[in-house]
Amino acid sequence: MSKFPGVGTTIFTVMSKMASDYGAINLSQGFPDFDGAPELMERLSWHISHGHNQYAPLAGVPELKQQIARKVHDLYGAEVAPDGEVAVTPGATEALYCAITACVRPGDEVIVFDPAYDTYAPCVSLNGGISRHIPMSYPDFAIDWQRVGETINDRTRLIILNSPHNPSGAVWSDEDIRELRRVIEGKDILLVSDEVYEHITFDGRDHLSLLRYPDLAERAFCISSFGKTLHVTGWRIGYCVAPAELMREFLKIHQFINFSTNTPMQYALADYLGEYFSKCLELSDFYLTKRNLFNKLLRKTRFNFIPSQGTYFQLADFSALSDEPDTRFAEQLTKEHKVAVIPVSVFYQEPPDQRIVRFCFAKHDETLERAAQRLASID
Ligand code: PMP
Ligand code: GLN
Repeated sequence: MSKFPGVGTTIFTVMSKMASDYGAINLSQGFPDFDGAPELMERLSWHISHGHNQYAPLAGVPELKQQIARKVHDLYGAEVAPDGEVAVTPGATEALYCAITACVRPGDEVIVFDPAYDTYAPCVSLNGGISRHIPMSYPDFAIDWQRVGETINDRTRLIILNSPHNPSGAVWSDEDIRELRRVIEGKDILLVSDEVYEHITFDGRDHLSLLRYPDLAERAFCISSFGKTLHVTGWRIGYCVAPAELMREFLKIHQFINFSTNTPMQYALADYLGEYFSKCLELSDFYLTKRNLFNKLLRKTRFNFIPSQGTYFQLADFSALSDEPDTRFAEQLTKEHKVAVIPVSVFYQEPPDQRIVRFCFAKHDETLERAAQRLASID
């Protein structure tokens, strides 16, 4: 008997496999079709051939933890102790699991915002917690803070936040931070802040990391991913920053899942960040050019959209093309028109009546152009 009867394979795996089976251009699962910087690859080869191949320390290689502490200081003004407040993890995925597991006891309630990244609710339920889903709607995906306030009760243990938001691309405003502060004030509620797209915001928007706000950071696990930032999703490497007391609990879980994160990649990343940290700051412009190109191409199709505010995803409404549910439409698009996308309804507990799919534009321009030609030719 399954312990996890309601859970299947993630939509990202399902759609990538379908793309491969049907020879479709894969704009579904979020990963670039280009490589990370040659300098980063060179540093990795160097460390592999210079003896950095045994277990790393549990919380990470000191050099990389220092670079992370420097990064959050320079970007967000956060004073973070590399030893005790930083952990390097095998992807943001493991960090999310550890953070949620460190907080949630059976019967605890956790607030998540739908459409929610697909790991959050399963991690909550694996720990015996109860997810309370608050929907956000196309096109602006604004958080209904009044509803958050009404949902909070004595059992609320944790709020899981995500900005820039996958799949919608929505980015927090100052108002969101003010409202977050208001709803949790005086309450014993922790925060998990999924900030893996922290370096991808558009049109003059700043990423409002919780690390900017000491009163919020003191109750938060802030999580990011080098996979997203440096175009190496397959390296499976992310990190978490949290106050010492929370980090101690986090590491108790981490030590029994993966113990530590792979060693040579940590050294390579430490070297790379030491020399090229400023490259992270160029990522928004890099992806803005891609977003603008993809938007221009999409305007020649019958999809409707408003430009994404951040991340490397673009949502689009296909109701001018089909009355089918988005899961069926995504399947048809992949099999018949050879472009794979992600249906958005799967990220909702109660899917709204909308026809929206997600495109990943972290692709060569030529890939986007070929995909758009196919999209434009749909009757
Ligand atoms: N959170 C969000 C919102 C994501 O889109 C992803 C996908 N990369 C992750 C977490 C997991 O990141 P990683 O690949 O570093 O595990
Ligand atoms: N975060 C990626 C996305 O949203 C997928 C990561 C995964 O497949 N686990 O597409």
